[in-house]
Amino acid sequence: MSPYPHLFAPLDLGSLTLPNRVVMGSMHTGLEEAPDGFGRLAAFYAERAAAGVGLIVTGGIAPNAEGRLYVGAAALTTDEEAESHRLITAAVHAAGGRICLQILHGGRYSQHADAVAPSPLRAPITPATPRELSDADVRATIDAFARCAALAVAAGYDGVEVMGSEGYLLNQFLAARTNQRSDDWGGSAEARMRMPVAVVRSVRDRIGPSPLLIYRLSMLDLVDGGQTLDEVRTLAKAVERAGASIISTGIGWHESRVPTIATNVPRAAFAPVTAAVRSAVQIPIIAANRLNTPEVAEEVLAADADLVSLARPFLADPEFLAKAAAGRPDRINTCIACNQACLDRTFAGLVASCLVNPRACHETVLTLRPTNTKRTVAVVGAGPAGLAAATTAAARGFAVTLFEADDEIGGQFRLACQIPGKEEYAQTLRYFATALAERGVTVRTGVRATLDDLAPFDVILLATGVTPRIPDVPGIDHPSVVTYAQVLGDHVRVGDRVVIMGAGGIGVDVADYLTTPAAAPETIEEFYAQWGIDPTFASPGGLVAPIPEPAARQVHLVQRRTSPIGAGLGRTTGWIHRAVLAQRGVNLVRGATYERIDDAGLHLTVDGQPLTLEVDTIVVCAGQEPQRELHDGLLAAGKQVHLIGGADEAAELDAVRAIRQATEAAAAL
Ligand code: NAP
Ligand code: SF4
Repeated sequence: MSPYPHLFAPLDLGSLTLPNRVVMGSMHTGLEEAPDGFGRLAAFYAERAAAGVGLIVTGGIAPNAEGRLYVGAAALTTDEEAESHRLITAAVHAAGGRICLQILHGGRYSQHADAVAPSPLRAPITPATPRELSDADVRATIDAFARCAALAVAAGYDGVEVMGSEGYLLNQFLAARTNQRSDDWGGSAEARMRMPVAVVRSVRDRIGPSPLLIYRLSMLDLVDGGQTLDEVRTLAKAVERAGASIISTGIGWHESRVPTIATNVPRAAFAPVTAAVRSAVQIPIIAANRLNTPEVAEEVLAADADLVSLARPFLADPEFLAKAAAGRPDRINTCIACNQACLDRTFAGLVASCLVNPRACHETVLTLRPTNTKRTVAVVGAGPAGLAAATTAAARGFAVTLFEADDEIGGQFRLACQIPGKEEYAQTLRYFATALAERGVTVRTGVRATLDDLAPFDVILLATGVTPRIPDVPGIDHPSVVTYAQVLGDHVRVGDRVVIMGAGGIGVDVADYLTTPAAAPETIEEFYAQWGIDPTFASPGGLVAPIPEPAARQVHLVQRRTSPIGAGLGRTTGWIHRAVLAQRGVNLVRGATYERIDDAGLHLTVDGQPLTLEVDTIVVCAGQEPQRELHDGLLAAGKQVHLIGGADEAAELDAVRAIRQATEAAAAL
């Protein structure tokens, strides 16, 4: 019997039957607008359909020019545009899958001069004030949704998803925060519902009874002036009556200051709100957000929902479901919710990918051909770059030996696992450990490879990583000074008063680590309390006053630059880190000059004034230097050698670059 009976139970939806309960949720990949994007999207979706995804929802496509999120964003308004989508629908159907097109109107989130909204109110995350839609504009917009849906069905899609959450146009109509109209489309909660419900009715009328119509419903707005649970349940019933076949869970507006999908959000944190809405309707309901393992999905399906939507986990591993069906969840490359290669890239206008799977959205350009040579490959260093290189080369059929000086694999990821909220990074190491064993890589841990060790190999991939940079400051060898690697890796003792030198990604992480109270939030209830989520969901927007955590220590976080601390962190997660530092009262010092370290602590000059931070421990987080002492010797010996990861370039090193570079190097051997 399957360990996941709910996950793999078919679902009869009348016009079609889904083979399992997993929907691949909508993700904008950036390929929607790329010149060769539709062919690449077809390959991306087809690979996931072939591996058993029950139903795919595309990234958001605008129903008209005003609704595009930015100039040049994809829209579906003409027969000609519909024709280009056939590449996608044909590929997915040929792979045995089903796919719906998501219709997304940005409303006031659209980043262009023609943005429109229920009321002329600028969003805190956009530069311009939108134009207020007239009554005639509202009716034309409803019609545009219906036209887009009809074109999608004509292009071969199995249905559409109407995007009604995340603070986009339809959600803006629903909330008093953004809808201050006094005509038929605003005023009471009932009147604010009219436009989204009319969209559903109009779409159903236009596409007929058979195609799927999913409505993505904002169950928890997480903004002041958002909807109450009562209003959300009433909306769900109205959407059902108007012709929706499925309701999907949306959580949080983009302008919300509550984390909803980042690593620090507990798994399945929002399943309770899905359950609270489910009891209002008869149609199937989809749960979403932080469902990244088959076990968690199974638990949610057993209790709270009819279907689950997983999006990023299918970037991380196209074969998520096939591996679960085979009873091998240990083979799944788990999404670690970092957002670094997916959402952060999408918001920067780049093509998305995945930190742990650089092939995501690059299926046609990063191909892994079986090798027909018998060359032997040594990989030196089992951090993220070395692990990716070794497993990729082995997958291609090379005989691979992996050397690691430590007793365990993992490198910088072993340190990252220590950070509160980054425990998921251990899943990546579990995945790599399984892949190394399955692909027959010879792993030699506890061995610092020498030139003699490497002499027999045809090709050497040097992934020897980095060492912490030690700043040239008088007194840096004082006993109070430790490196981040000693704190996170060796767990050296840290006092109650701490200064962190360097406020990059690692400095911020270490500040979080050192200030996390012993009783840090772990349960969903504790997470709700910390971020001010109403556990009854009854209040407007589902918000109540947060209960900030006390800090475990007094921490000063210092950098030399004058730019805001944390400015270089990821776009979708940096604000969470900054909020946590503020909650814990971390003292941020920028524009500092390091003068000296002595028994009193760290002496600085800031704004021309001397400042002494009296502390017990000074933690150095001042970046890294590459570690590549074998390189010259290997070149001198005439070896084919490639530097990858931090050993190649330590500045601003991040795991996205390390894993991608390693995978590409191994793919090109
Ligand atoms: P980093 O981001 O490059 O930051 C290094 C810090 O050290 C900076 O604050 C820099 O600021 C300071 N610094 C540099 N040279 C110095 C010197 N000679 N003396 C004193 N201070 C110096 O490096 P990191 O923090 O080690 O992180 C490495 C990479 O890991 C990051 O680039 C990031 O990609 C990744 N990472 C990301 C996250 C995340 O996004 N959440 C978390 C962890 C790691 P000043 O020069 O202004 O003093
Ligand atoms: Fe998940 Fe990070 Fe990959 Fe995005 S980049 S899919 S968050 S592992």
